[in-house]
Amino acid sequence: MIELNKVSFSYNGSPVLDGVTFDVGEGEMVAIVGPNGAGKSTLLKLVSGLLKPDSGNIKLTFNGRVCQPHRLSRKTAARLVAMVPQQNPRNAEFSVEELVLSGRYSQSGFWGYEARDRRIVHQVMESCGLGDLAQRRLNELSGGEFKRTLLARALAQQAPLILMDEPTTDLDLRYQEEILHLVKERASGSRCLLAVMHDLVLATRHFSRIIILSDGRVYADGAVEEVITSENIRRAYGLEVDVDWHRGQLVLIPKGKGRI
Ligand code: ADP
Repeated sequence: MIELNKVSFSYNGSPVLDGVTFDVGEGEMVAIVGPNGAGKSTLLKLVSGLLKPDSGNIKLTFNGRVCQPHRLSRKTAARLVAMVPQQNPRNAEFSVEELVLSGRYSQSGFWGYEARDRRIVHQVMESCGLGDLAQRRLNELSGGEFKRTLLARALAQQAPLILMDEPTTDLDLRYQEEILHLVKERASGSRCLLAVMHDLVLATRHFSRIIILSDGRVYADGAVEEVITSENIRRAYGLEVDVDWHRGQLVLIPKGKGRI
């Protein structure tokens, strides 16, 4: 569904991505990890069509039709790609329900939102734990509540491709797990999920394929236990760690540091 071929990108002449190549197939769920400034958010913006590669190309395939994301109209892009940004302005005039409903814009017809759109919005708000907050203004939400509202808007879009930039930041432990389960359930089948994950432990628990992006390049790409090794973490993050697995869960212990 996603194909990146030697994609490079710079901001005002400063290179950020350099020859990034990978494919993600239908039904696949992939986590992108890597140090700050590696180019992860920029990569998602390129895949969503908000930015255009300087060189190389990105192809998205939906139902046998191939497109380049930066060439899509805004409405078509929103029908195909749902993006949960890392940050989003909070417009105090909007309620939670109104923002989530705006996720239905690309699917709505000539007459605007219909009963079906409102039904989907209510279901999604309930499943994201937002039922009681529907009428709350966006500027009156906690960081985690606002993040769940952005996730709910993306799920309401029902797009085949879901892109998420650090979806669990600001969420407490319970919602980190619940939201990841929910998004994965929605993304299964013919959809596809690409998520930038800050937390390596959560990434390894929820995704079977991980891409490490470091210094604008794909440093490693593959199954969790192949990719998350002390050698890869040392080289990509510049941190000496012992990598251990306890009952299938990742345990990272920085070397030479005891309890502080
Ligand atoms: P990551 O998500 O891995 O932390 P980003 O893609 O956000 O990395 O940023 C990669 C690099 O590009 C960083 O050095 C960042 O400062 C720079 N950058 C990000 N956005 C812009 C922008 N709009 N203009 C100029 N530089 C930017």
